[in-house]
Amino acid sequence: MDETKLLKAARVLKNSEFSMAFTGAGISVESGVPPFRGEGGIWSKYDPRTLELNYFYANPLESWEVIRELFYNFFGDAQANDAHKALAQFEEAGLLHCIVTQNIDNLHQQAGSSKVYEFHGNSQKLKCVQCKNYYSPDDIDFESLPPHCECGGLIKPDFIFFGESIPMAAYQKSVQAAAQAEVVILIGSTGEVMPAAQIPYMAKQNGATIIEVNTETSNFTKSITDIYLNGKAGAVMRELYKAVTGEALN
Ligand code: NAD
Repeated sequence: MDETKLLKAARVLKNSEFSMAFTGAGISVESGVPPFRGEGGIWSKYDPRTLELNYFYANPLESWEVIRELFYNFFGDAQANDAHKALAQFEEAGLLHCIVTQNIDNLHQQAGSSKVYEFHGNSQKLKCVQCKNYYSPDDIDFESLPPHCECGGLIKPDFIFFGESIPMAAYQKSVQAAAQAEVVILIGSTGEVMPAAQIPYMAKQNGATIIEVNTETSNFTKSITDIYLNGKAGAVMRELYKAVTGEALN
């Protein structure tokens, strides 16, 4: 870890009046949740078509078998890691004002963050496509797929499928945050997924300093990143937390 860059990032964060984080699949890799892209990524093993909205309606059983394995068998036991915890503790200390996440794994909330704008929804909520009744994963019998509501409607996870639009409230709050932010901590995102990737660009245009944490360079690195902290999210965020607060992460 480059100490000079770390201290610079810590100084910028401490001096900021409004800071936000923008997180992608990379922040949850150390929690055991694989990313979609690249080696070992979800799309190297599964067909992305199963998460297209029209395909889901036409083939609910086939889609649901993949969904069960990916998001409920697999994500189900994941625990928040030090990067999620550092962001939650920054929020508690008044040093971070919100998180815009592309993730649907609920790990920011599990770590204790309260202002989380979920750009792509959340796998821990499910919804009847007909009567819009909400369910939790505990209500679902995953042995009897596809799940149906009491009204007879098909139940769908409340994260967005390909072909669905971004939840309006999360989008508006994210754009508002990008207009206000003096600092963005960008963690574990390739920057390839639109429109989510526009949020850090909007913040940069409004004058924010961009701190990026990633094991590899991304679309953001050469275009908007001011301070690139190379490494795994958990280790880098632990060090950043220490550099900012002078204390070890709990
Ligand atoms: P991505 O899969 O395109 O890229 C992951 C990024 O994380 C890469 O830049 C990679 O270098 C980086 N990375 C990998 N391991 C890391 C580590 N230990 N520490 C720091 N960085 C690390 O992710 P994306 O850009 O978020 O786009 C994929 C889309 O898929 C997202 O929009 C998201 O909704 C969804 N997704 C969510 C989850 C989840 O909820 N955990 C998992 C997979 C995909």
